[in-house]
Amino acid sequence: MSRLRVTEIFLSLQGESRSVGLPTAFVRLTGCPLRCGYCDTTYAFSGGSWMAREEVLERVAGLGVGHVCVTGGEPLAQRDCLGLLSALCDAGYAVSLETSGALDIAPVDPRVVKVVDLKTPGSGELVRNRYENLDLLGPGDQLKLVICDRTDYEWARALLQEHDLAEGAEVLLSPCHGRQDPRELGEWILEDRLPVRFQLQLHKYLWGDQPGR
Ligand code: SF4
Repeated sequence: MSRLRVTEIFLSLQGESRSVGLPTAFVRLTGCPLRCGYCDTTYAFSGGSWMAREEVLERVAGLGVGHVCVTGGEPLAQRDCLGLLSALCDAGYAVSLETSGALDIAPVDPRVVKVVDLKTPGSGELVRNRYENLDLLGPGDQLKLVICDRTDYEWARALLQEHDLAEGAEVLLSPCHGRQDPRELGEWILEDRLPVRFQLQLHKYLWGDQPGR
């Protein structure tokens, strides 16, 4: 039987990515092999409850919205995440996956929008990046980079020049909450005419770091 370890399933507004602001059902899977210094979901590292895939689908259906985001932790660290993603697509949802970029995204159902949060130097987990994932991003997918300081910004700028990513997937640059001044990041992007989308994490402004929001 397919089962997953789940930290929480809840309804909120999508706080980031191209679907920002849309009412979305979130499925937060438990566990993550990374330890980013700025992680705001450390409560998902352990604990959670085992749930059958059907139970997850029932809980999502009960929330009554058409968008579903599977997140973590690092959702791909659980073997049955791939089956859950496909089952959600089969059920007719618009499905997105938030993943760190440290694990292989090749086996993810092509109907799923992948939001890959590749790690910047400021995260402390740069060495975990699996750069092969960049070649697997399609036009519907998104590469997210959390910028902690100027060093991260320059690293991100060089990465984009090297990989010509803006041609394929959309690139999102987010200031790290509490570490990078958002306005300053906005100014850097404008100065360089960087072809990225600047974004703030909407949920932090609405609800802070509350779990389940
Ligand atoms: S990959 Fe995500 S969940 Fe895991 S430690 Fe980093 S920020 Fe936290």
